[in-house]
Amino acid sequence: MNLTLHLTERCNMDCSYCLRVKRPCDMPEEVLYKALELAFSKGQNAGVCFFGGEPMLKKDLILKALDRAKTMSDSSGKPFACKMTSNGTLLDEDFLKRAKEAGMVIGLSYDALGQDISRRFADKDHSSTSAVLREKAELLLKYLPDSVALITVAPQAVPYYAESVKHVHDLGFKQASCVLAYGSRVNWTDGDMEILRGELDKTVDYMTELFRKSDRFKVTPLCSKITECIKGVNPASRCHLGVRQMQVDVRGDLYPCTSFVGDPDYLMGNVFDGVDESRVSALAAKSNMPETCRNCELNKRCTNSCGCSNRMNTGDENKISPLQCTYERMLIDAADRLGNILFTIDQARFAKYFG
Ligand code: SF4
Ligand code: SF4
Repeated sequence: MNLTLHLTERCNMDCSYCLRVKRPCDMPEEVLYKALELAFSKGQNAGVCFFGGEPMLKKDLILKALDRAKTMSDSSGKPFACKMTSNGTLLDEDFLKRAKEAGMVIGLSYDALGQDISRRFADKDHSSTSAVLREKAELLLKYLPDSVALITVAPQAVPYYAESVKHVHDLGFKQASCVLAYGSRVNWTDGDMEILRGELDKTVDYMTELFRKSDRFKVTPLCSKITECIKGVNPASRCHLGVRQMQVDVRGDLYPCTSFVGDPDYLMGNVFDGVDESRVSALAAKSNMPETCRNCELNKRCTNSCGCSNRMNTGDENKISPLQCTYERMLIDAADRLGNILFTIDQARFAKYFG
């Protein structure tokens, strides 16, 4: 079973779009160990993602989890996989050596050229993080070259979208994941969306240039939209609220997805008593395609039923926002153009990259 462990509700940063409530609460060791037991108790594999707040504030807990999981994996014969999403500021060589041994995949939240626009330290000066992040990104890639750059694009940073993608590629990342900043602290205008359209065009040009040089750099969701189209996979099928990955908060309570953590209506059990399967089934039956998407010709290529982002944007997991709809249309259009260009350049390599 896969669990996302919210090791702490604290963070050393104060990002302008952050929706997390910061409190001085950390996960106790007994909750951590119970969560690991739960991860190993179901399914063919056990997996955890270390999450926060900033999980590296609880580095001691991560190291204990890795030791315990290795013992459990050796004795049960069940493979164990681990990931972490981190703001990167507290990464160090000793930790990265251990992370490498454990085969950890790290997603580095790094907004590249937009870093200082939204992602600042939580000190009294709200100081810059960009120089620190650049250095930490290089250190991370030295040990874990397959790490992913997680770029959150705020409206103020949208003119830097394409340059930010290029920047993380130049740093040595092989993959970047770009998402729009959502939620009550962010306000997107039509003008921002038009700039975004131009930035996606520039990203298509850049990806074409890399493809011509056989440089296999992946940008999601552009590249994933191409793969999904070729394979006939509906991206909405990836969102199974609480079925594939469950959230464990600092107290050990279980929730279906990050934006539901703390909402008693979405409590799915806890690590001591186990998963409340009836609540999971009820939620899975409830999550559906939004009414407004039923007759849309793009509804099999769109992430319209991501309950987590729908809830952040509209307060309802089954209701899509106009912003998300516009963005999905732009993405599908850009992915189709990119796919057609790359296919024309080299069909065999295209099939290898995306097939
Ligand atoms: S690093 Fe993450 S948890 Fe911390 S303030 Fe930024 S978005 Fe929020
Ligand atoms: S493009 Fe808009 S209307 Fe069409 S499926 Fe996606 S969100 Fe729904």
